[in-house]
Amino acid sequence: MASPFTNHVVIFPFMAQGHILPLLDLSKALSRQHIKVSIITTPGNAKSILNYISSYPHVYLIEIPFPTIDGLPKGCENTSQLPSMEFHLPFVNVTKQLRKPFQNILETMLESQTPPLCVISDFFLGWTLAVCRELGVPRLVFHGMGVLSMAIIKSVWVHQPHLKVKSVFEPLNLPGGEADANSWGVVVNSFEELERSHIPCFESFYNGAKAWCFGPLYLHEKMEDLDKSSSSMLMQWLVEQTPDSVIYVSFGTQADISDTQLNEVAFGLNDSGFPFVWVVRSKAWTLPVGMEEKIKGKGFIIKEWVDQPKILSQRAIGGFLSHCGWNSVLESVSTGVPILAWPMIAEQSLNAKLIVDGLGAGVSVKREKKCGSSELVIVSREAICEGVRELMGRKGKECKGESTSPWTSG
Ligand code: UDP
Ligand code: UDP
Repeated sequence: MASPFTNHVVIFPFMAQGHILPLLDLSKALSRQHIKVSIITTPGNAKSILNYISSYPHVYLIEIPFPTIDGLPKGCENTSQLPSMEFHLPFVNVTKQLRKPFQNILETMLESQTPPLCVISDFFLGWTLAVCRELGVPRLVFHGMGVLSMAIIKSVWVHQPHLKVKSVFEPLNLPGGEADANSWGVVVNSFEELERSHIPCFESFYNGAKAWCFGPLYLHEKMEDLDKSSSSMLMQWLVEQTPDSVIYVSFGTQADISDTQLNEVAFGLNDSGFPFVWVVRSKAWTLPVGMEEKIKGKGFIIKEWVDQPKILSQRAIGGFLSHCGWNSVLESVSTGVPILAWPMIAEQSLNAKLIVDGLGAGVSVKREKKCGSSELVIVSREAICEGVRELMGRKGKECKGESTSPWTSG
């Protein structure tokens, strides 16, 4: 058996909560195997990361300053702090300026007593591959998305099938294809039972590199860690509720949601008659006049960070109104909570399709579609109320088991 510290892995997460958290869980899992882990991040992210890893003796934090450039709001070192979605692309681009400090760190490590075995870096930090190759360190790419959505995104990128159809109503033929990435391996936060049928197609895009699906990474967490804060008011209230009676609502850490839309959610939840726990990201938004009285005792609105996996694992929770961020999907599937799917941005609509059509583990919120427009349409209180009732009214929480493909692929 390996003695402590013979192996050393470098982890470099992209600076977004949904990307950082699973890699922290992976770091802890490696640390429990006596593998030294160095996490590279910027000072603005270091504080919350330290909270997660401080009790793990083999996990170290290495800070590199976040580049300051015109056009990005000062002090924003995590996408969840950006004032709106339009800053996301410039934010991703600015991380390329971390190349030189990253190279310096790797060079120093290579001369140390424990040179790194490999670097695991986020797929948004593709530029790390060139540095790793130059220094002869294998790079594994980390995918915080599901296999299905990555396979589709890669197929669209390589084969451009959308250029071959005449209208948005024609089905796309999604072929497999040649490699577009040359990393040593691929680490995916998913599990084979969930997405087995899509793994070969996904792997076909990587020059023979293997994809390791070792998610859900959050389940690597030791149970005693999940037990923190069990005395809070919310937890006490949840314990008192009937099993499967409460709907949990969260739209993740990224999407911008207008006050008008938040008002509709408040009315919709209230009209549904089901008790709810709703985590709201917008600190400025307040409940519409008169609502506070109405929801008293029936709903919790929380504007702070919560332990979402812990909430989802409570017996009282019978459904999750979710934006279908991949981490939320994994947490919901793992705790057996069906989803009312309301995808908003990024690959979330693909995740929603996997949940609703592939797994039969949820229903979709009804909304008007504006064809050919990326403009978000307000989801009405009636649609939310109806969706919550439909989801919470389902008998049992069983799903189909292993996913069937919601797409045909050529
Ligand atoms: N955060 C987190 N885990 C925590 C506490 C906070 O991931 O235990 C996230 C939080 O959502 C935010 C970032 O870390 O995106 C900074 O949180 P903090 O509370 O420090 O700042 P604020 O909410 O005032 O921006
Ligand atoms: N999360 C949490 N507490 C909060 C808000 C979010 O624990 O108050 C966690 C949630 O459990 C998930 C992650 O943050 O693990 C959000 O990632 P996801 O992929 O669901 O959505 P994103 O924020 O990337 O859109």
